[in-house]
Amino acid sequence: MTILRDSNAYPPDYFPENFPMTARIRNILKGWTRIDTTWLLLPWEHLCAKSWPLRAVDTLLRSCGQVIFAEHPLTGLFMLLAMAMVSRGAFLFACTGAAVSSLFAFALKEDRHYIQRGIFGFNGVIFGIFWSWYFLTSTPSLLLFILMVMVTTIVQSAMMNRLSYGFFNLPVMSLPAALTFICSLMILYWLVFNVGIISPEHLYLPGNELLTPLIPFPFQEASGILGFLAVHKLHAWIMIFLGILINSRISFAAAAFFTLMGLACVTALPPAWMNRGEEIFIGFNILPLAIALSGLFMPFGRPALVYTCLSFLICFTLWIPLSTLLAVLHLPFLTLPFNFTVILVLLYVKKAGAAHSQMTTVPLDRVTTPEQILDMGIPFSLNDTLSWHTVRHAFPGRASHCHLLRQEINSFVKLIDSAERISILSGAGTSTESGIPDFRGNASFWRRFGPEDFTYQNFLTRADIQARYWVMDRQFQVLVSAARPNDFHKAVRKLDKKGKLECIVTQNVDGLFQKAGIDPAKVLEIHGTARHVHCLNCGAVFPRQDIESALAAGVPVPHCHVCHGLLKPMTVFMGEDINPSILTEALERICRSDLLIVIGTSLQVDPVASIPDLAWQKGVQMVFINPHPTPKDHLATMVLRHTGSRFFKAVNKVIGA
Ligand SMILES: [Zn+2]
Repeated sequence: MTILRDSNAYPPDYFPENFPMTARIRNILKGWTRIDTTWLLLPWEHLCAKSWPLRAVDTLLRSCGQVIFAEHPLTGLFMLLAMAMVSRGAFLFACTGAAVSSLFAFALKEDRHYIQRGIFGFNGVIFGIFWSWYFLTSTPSLLLFILMVMVTTIVQSAMMNRLSYGFFNLPVMSLPAALTFICSLMILYWLVFNVGIISPEHLYLPGNELLTPLIPFPFQEASGILGFLAVHKLHAWIMIFLGILINSRISFAAAAFFTLMGLACVTALPPAWMNRGEEIFIGFNILPLAIALSGLFMPFGRPALVYTCLSFLICFTLWIPLSTLLAVLHLPFLTLPFNFTVILVLLYVKKAGAAHSQMTTVPLDRVTTPEQILDMGIPFSLNDTLSWHTVRHAFPGRASHCHLLRQEINSFVKLIDSAERISILSGAGTSTESGIPDFRGNASFWRRFGPEDFTYQNFLTRADIQARYWVMDRQFQVLVSAARPNDFHKAVRKLDKKGKLECIVTQNVDGLFQKAGIDPAKVLEIHGTARHVHCLNCGAVFPRQDIESALAAGVPVPHCHVCHGLLKPMTVFMGEDINPSILTEALERICRSDLLIVIGTSLQVDPVASIPDLAWQKGVQMVFINPHPTPKDHLATMVLRHTGSRFFKAVNKVIGA
């Protein structure tokens, strides 16, 4: 799919590196028409790329922001402030939860980018908030908490493998935290009251009063404005809504509207129905529900608003029986109504909604802010989000992220053993696992730079684009130099050593194959390389690091030191032709081989997309390794729904050194 974006959305002053302070202030004042915190985020992300303690802080803040679906460190900061204002326990447990779950996700070898975006940390944060309501801040409680956060992370990882990747493409949200918390409460009730190995004084077990959270108020004694704020907990609400506003105005408006609606409806309920945790219901269910469905998991628009209103009603209808039922068991309902409602509505939209209203859900890897999702262009094509119909048909060969089948590995190794000349066609997927962001994905790295503007034509003619490009390139180089070859690259090196490797045709520009020690003569970089630049005037080629000192000294656009011509990276830009001699060599060598491994590419863009057709005509056997289906799967001898690194980690064990 091509992502259409109005280039006017990125004014020339988008990258205000040398931006006067008055202009920055004006930009802030323009807040209501355009909230742009890029000028703050860019330097911050630059600092984070260099220092790991800052990266840890960044992950913590993003984890807190993700509680309300905002991957913005500032939103996270406001959330943390809100928590600190309401309860010191919530603050402590939330921070610990984010740290433990993120670190443990690393240990579980989950995707580093998801972890850094706070996708794992936020369940730790939510679990921490729950914990602070029901348990005292004591050492036994903290130890138990850490253990349970680890369980939450395992549950989340398992649920993501089932729900998020592959065909369902449904978010797991705070379901892992809510389910694990309810289970741990049940186990603790049993340990305290039946087995008696934990003394109740270490833990606050609320019994019947479970809906009265244990929140000490630091402002309780205050009078005047502070007192008023504290009584209504308005100070915390203000912080939360400020955090939402920083991230997205659409989310802010939706959250504000539906929260007020929720308040009105709860107040209108008959008194006998009260005391079911209205505050938890509104803050932890209605508010995220409004954000999630108004523009986040569905592109913002009239249909999304209709679905949000409907889901508001569903959530209410779920809440009343759920809270009644669970209260009998002395268990809280937490965020269950919200989670169930969102999953129900998304399933419905995928199945029926798409047919009736041209409405599709946003593929999970494109979920950013409602504004950016609108920028990407709607409606999303149905190929991106599989319908229920496809789900059922594809189910037997379903993607499996964590369970490698011994049988698959054995037949793959057998194919390799019987082949004499193996070619590899590799896409961005093989590098993302080494930490290089995928250009087509929504990795937060690219979004900041408006990569759609980096066309060949723009680079030749517009000084502002050149300058913006080099700002991006400097950060990209940091990632490239930090990237290490992964298990896939190691497996290819083994093939090379065995003398079986014909060539690698790659769309990647990061030089990871060469870094892995593979014969450079066998690596055909059809999209060029980011490791060299060349002069557009005299054609001289320089290593990329030669111009780093000039860029670091503040030169916005570097020029050739021989003839002062414009320097361009040796990567192939959009709108630029691929070097025909490399492409011809690639095709010749692929047709000469007897096995082609196509890996980590969705085969959407020509000429790479048509290479499998040619290979098929020449009778070359093919193996496709990609977590998602590709349009050419029917040509392959074997299709493996795995990410390259995970699959080859297992393969490497079998094929040995
Ligand atoms: Zn030159």
